[in-house]
Amino acid sequence: MPLFRQLFDPVSSTYSYLLGDPATRQAILIDPVYEQARRDSALIRELGLTLRCTVETHVHADHVTAAWRLKQDLGSKIVVGARSGAEGADRYVAHGESIAFGAHAVLVRDTPGHTAGCITLVLNDQSMAFTGDCLLVRGCGRTDFQGGDARALYRSIYEQIFTLPDTCLLYPGHDYRGNTATSVAEERSFNPRLGGRLSESDFAGYMENLGLPHPKQIDVAVPANRKCGQAAGGAAADGDPSWAPLAFTYGGFWEVAPQWVEEHLQALQLIDVREPAEFDGALGHISTARLVPLGTLAGNLAGFERDRPVVTVCRAGGRSAQATLVLQKAGFAKVANLAGGMLQWHAQGLPVEGVGQD
Ligand code: FE
Repeated sequence: MPLFRQLFDPVSSTYSYLLGDPATRQAILIDPVYEQARRDSALIRELGLTLRCTVETHVHADHVTAAWRLKQDLGSKIVVGARSGAEGADRYVAHGESIAFGAHAVLVRDTPGHTAGCITLVLNDQSMAFTGDCLLVRGCGRTDFQGGDARALYRSIYEQIFTLPDTCLLYPGHDYRGNTATSVAEERSFNPRLGGRLSESDFAGYMENLGLPHPKQIDVAVPANRKCGQAAGGAAADGDPSWAPLAFTYGGFWEVAPQWVEEHLQALQLIDVREPAEFDGALGHISTARLVPLGTLAGNLAGFERDRPVVTVCRAGGRSAQATLVLQKAGFAKVANLAGGMLQWHAQGLPVEGVGQD
């Protein structure tokens, strides 16, 4: 079985899918969202994966892809469907082609109807398929723009998705109610638009009368996605802090390495959020650190400068990670967690003072 993660963007209700080969650590990421590139990069790094490529199921109208941004950050290739209409990709895949990651692969099936260039990606053992906006959990993508065609969508679902094994798990491109997955047998029986005994004509009649509003993001997202998400003017990843070589974690905070902190102590405000007995205990503390236990931090920030960088410290890096969130909420702009805390600081042989007994 491949390594598998389902990732969610709450703004656009988009799912992205990370698939990796446990042996070679090669991975692919299906339908990444621009605003989630930092999170996705952190997860890929923490899992020890190498991102071979991003794959788009189609040119999206509701979010901008992170394909180009991840290519800049991680060196991944951009893969899109041959009929997607996107330019600037590294590879254009046609029906029947496979996209490999280590010992595993996904196979491309053309499933037009939501857009003219939609593809579905099927894991090589047919245990999972990623249907994009072709088939959703008890729903399907709309068919009223980007070359959409209700009759084509019906045929794509019946000929390319419902021909997979009954137990094949289907993972949609979106869900607006919190559903995460479904199966071929379930949708064939219970999909209210096209399952059971509903015919192609029933489906076309249903889709022509949906009366959906114009997608909010379409005027921004479609032009950007036709260029695989390349930022206007080629700008690099926006908003990343530059005051230190920081690493973003999948846990949602920034970390900085002990060695860098040791070399820049004078420029930093160090807040040690352990308890007093620990501060003067067996691990001691860093010379410039000021003790403010985590439980009292929110009420004791008056003595710290909001514009100067802050590094938070604790025993192993857990409480101090929480402290970075407290500080950010209080308006501190430059905040990072000391990676690994005092344990890592000791392990690297960096200087401490105030060493006592625990
Ligand atoms: Fe879509």
